[in-house]
Amino acid sequence: MKKFTLEQWEEKYIKGDIKRFDQRNTMFNRPGWDKSIHGAVDSWAIAGTIKDRPGYYLEDWALHWASRRGTLFGLFNTSKPNPGKSSMALMKAMASIVPSGQTMMPRQPPEGARIHDPSPEALTSKIKKAALWFGADLVGICRLDRRWVYSHTYDAPPYSGTKDDQLLDVESVPQDIPEEYQWAVVMCFEQSYDLLSYYPTLDSNAASSMGYSRMAITNHYLSAFIRNMGYKAIDCTTNDVALSIPMAIQAGLGDLGRHGLLITPKYGPRVRISKVITDLPLVPDAPLDFGVTEFCKVCMICAENCPSQSILYGGRTTEPNSVSNVGGVLKWPINAETCRMYWGRKNQGCTVCMACCPYNKPDTAFHRMVRWFTDHARWGDRFYVRMDKLFGYGKSKPADKFWEEWDPKRKFKPWE
Ligand code: SF4
Ligand code: SF4
Repeated sequence: MKKFTLEQWEEKYIKGDIKRFDQRNTMFNRPGWDKSIHGAVDSWAIAGTIKDRPGYYLEDWALHWASRRGTLFGLFNTSKPNPGKSSMALMKAMASIVPSGQTMMPRQPPEGARIHDPSPEALTSKIKKAALWFGADLVGICRLDRRWVYSHTYDAPPYSGTKDDQLLDVESVPQDIPEEYQWAVVMCFEQSYDLLSYYPTLDSNAASSMGYSRMAITNHYLSAFIRNMGYKAIDCTTNDVALSIPMAIQAGLGDLGRHGLLITPKYGPRVRISKVITDLPLVPDAPLDFGVTEFCKVCMICAENCPSQSILYGGRTTEPNSVSNVGGVLKWPINAETCRMYWGRKNQGCTVCMACCPYNKPDTAFHRMVRWFTDHARWGDRFYVRMDKLFGYGKSKPADKFWEEWDPKRKFKPWE
């Protein structure tokens, strides 16, 4: 595994000016204002349909939505540079159960208190340990690259089930993050390999839901930790405030796949990403090169399996295919419109490209060895792809025995 300097990384990926992205152009927001998109699907809800078949019974639907419950505790609503918004709500709730005048959960250090070792090296080590303690599976640091910060934020009003002429005209709001915020702590949350392998059911959706819930809570804890030390923190989860994937790559957490997802060395694309932006001085990590770009050039598995054919088969390009891609970055831009419309038609999220990707494997001795080869012997990439298909990896498991087979605490054997 090679570590890139930021200049080398820039040379590999950035081929033009980057226009900052307006959050209204994400495919979760476009049906809220773009009639050409909105009218194409009857209902944009991805609430999941209960059906009389395995993977879609009431208990599967219940597992999916219960797993997402953590996002509803008021912790997820932080999509603006508005430090302290969610922790203030929690503080008020806690204050109501302690005698007035006392503070049960302090946010600022007592007058005169000092951090024992405030060097960026020591703070970085503490922040990384705290992030893992609070629930992250991977953590990295990058300088805040403002090209990835949304130029505008946008809160789409409810649009599912409405007619085109009922769409509310909501403006996006210009966003700038004050200069003192120079750093970002980027975290990844593993999603269950076993649950994802039952794609495309509601049980595989539960894996994503749990990732979102875990990040909401961890982000909140980490932001509180930073504020308790007297620094500022903007708590931003998956699609909030800035584009997560380029930040995760700059923070040394992985590289970009053909399917447009982050691929991490340990969990492949099977992660959800969150970040906390801060003025706490930190030491950045270096972007990684472990052979992903070369591997994706010869592997088309995600493109072949994508049910809406939204993933590019050809070479990388800097040209966006709609306003929902960022131009100027050399990559495989997915067709976000057809992808999101497919979700709308199916009434649930899709995890196919994540589940079928050869980098999606359990972190066992056998797969670590294969990953070593894909990094150090890149000339064999076509062979590894063929082997992956031959061994039948990435195939969906029949859901009829899901509840009998599923062991949430399963330990993988070294050769699995
Ligand atoms: S999420 Fe599904 S529809 Fe969208 S690109 Fe991936 S495989 Fe295709
Ligand atoms: S399925 Fe293959 S081509 Fe697609 S992202 Fe994964 S490794 Fe790359």
